[in-house]
Amino acid sequence: MYHHIKKLMYSVNVGEPDVRFGNMLLEQFGGPNGELAAAMQYTVQAWNCVDDIGRRDLLLDIGTEELSHLEVIGALARMHLAPLKTEREAADANPLLTIAGGGGINLVDSLGNAWTSSYLKISGELDVDLRSNIAAEARAKIVYERLIDHTQDRGSIDTLQFLMTREITHMKAFQAALDSLEKKPFSIGLLKPTPGIVDEYFNGSTGEGNEGDTDMRGPWSSSFGLHPVESEMAGGEGLSVGDVAGKIPGEDRGKQDDARKASTSPGEKSIGKNGASKGHATRTVRR
Ligand code: MN
Ligand code: MN
Repeated sequence: MYHHIKKLMYSVNVGEPDVRFGNMLLEQFGGPNGELAAAMQYTVQAWNCVDDIGRRDLLLDIGTEELSHLEVIGALARMHLAPLKTEREAADANPLLTIAGGGGINLVDSLGNAWTSSYLKISGELDVDLRSNIAAEARAKIVYERLIDHTQDRGSIDTLQFLMTREITHMKAFQAALDSLEKKPFSIGLLKPTPGIVDEYFNGSTGEGNEGDTDMRGPWSSSFGLHPVESEMAGGEGLSVGDVAGKIPGEDRGKQDDARKASTSPGEKSIGKNGASKGHATRTVRR
């Protein structure tokens, strides 16, 4: 059940409306990294999260806050776009919103592309979803940073600073929720990756470039058991697929012994596991 409170989560003030900046703000209203996408992604993930009511509550808390952010960024964009309604010159900045939308805000990005649920990452696997959410918050944060860089309006900067800050807050919460699942690093799903091949860093870009660039080495080719493997094209051995292709007996395609389905396995024991606890002693959960 949803309930609307007639108050913005953060107050919005605009000095001089700037319709072109208002257009840019739509990126966070109806764009791929925007507030509606975040709200829908976390909320639908939560509705799928039937057997971890602790982390479901987290997803619902943040999903609902994102809807409040949508309202805030919508209010800010609407104020900047207001001249579309009355000024012919301003209307040139967004003919679509002016003609088809009456000069109001709409669920489009800064180029007028319609919002789509294709933006959402909903895998049905809680730990995979949490990783997607951490990445989504990082993208939203960087977009806000760039928006702040494109206005001088103090009120707008103040509001955007708030929205940007909350994305880092959410990153922290999602990261903590992921860590507290206590899954081994790189343990995703149930099936274990093929030994040997999983540790081969394939040197797929070779030769000398015009800028003096050559094969570079770094932790990406030597950490977590990784080691570089040269391409056959460069006289190397290539990936060791010949050792394993079609040769692994069925029983060796074992399950990851520490893995469990994060969000789709039944069982009370996973409920509230690993640090999830009720926030209020009197709180009840309706099923
Ligand atoms: Mn947000
Ligand atoms: Mn967020």
